[in-house]
Amino acid sequence: MNLVKNDLVKVISGKYKTKTGKVLKVYPDKNRVIIEGVGMIKRHSKPSRKHPQGGIVEKEAPIHVSNLMVICRKCNQPTRVGHKYLDDGTKVRICKNAGCGEILST
Ligand SMILES: [Zn+2]
Repeated sequence: MNLVKNDLVKVISGKYKTKTGKVLKVYPDKNRVIIEGVGMIKRHSKPSRKHPQGGIVEKEAPIHVSNLMVICRKCNQPTRVGHKYLDDGTKVRICKNAGCGEILST
C-alpha cells in the first residue's frame, strides 16, 4: 500500500479511467481507497432518525489501488512510488519520474 490520505491520484484503468482526485480514506487491509468525487454510487437508504424520509444517498465507492497512480505535485505527472531513507532514517516516498525524485507527502 503506497497511498496515504490526501494523496492526489489518477485512475489509470477501469470504469473511472482518467479521473483524478484526492484520497479521502484508505483501507489498507483491502488495498482500496476512497477518492473524492470519483466512483460515486447511489445508495437507497431506509428511513432513519437522521433521514426520516429515507432516500438516495450519493457516496464514493472504494477503488482498488492497482487502478491508481499518485500524481506528483512537483512534476504534475502520474508516477510510480519509490522509497528512500533520509539521513535521520525516516522512510519517505519519492516520485520515480525521470529528473524529478521529489519527496511525496508522507
Ligand atoms: Zn515528480
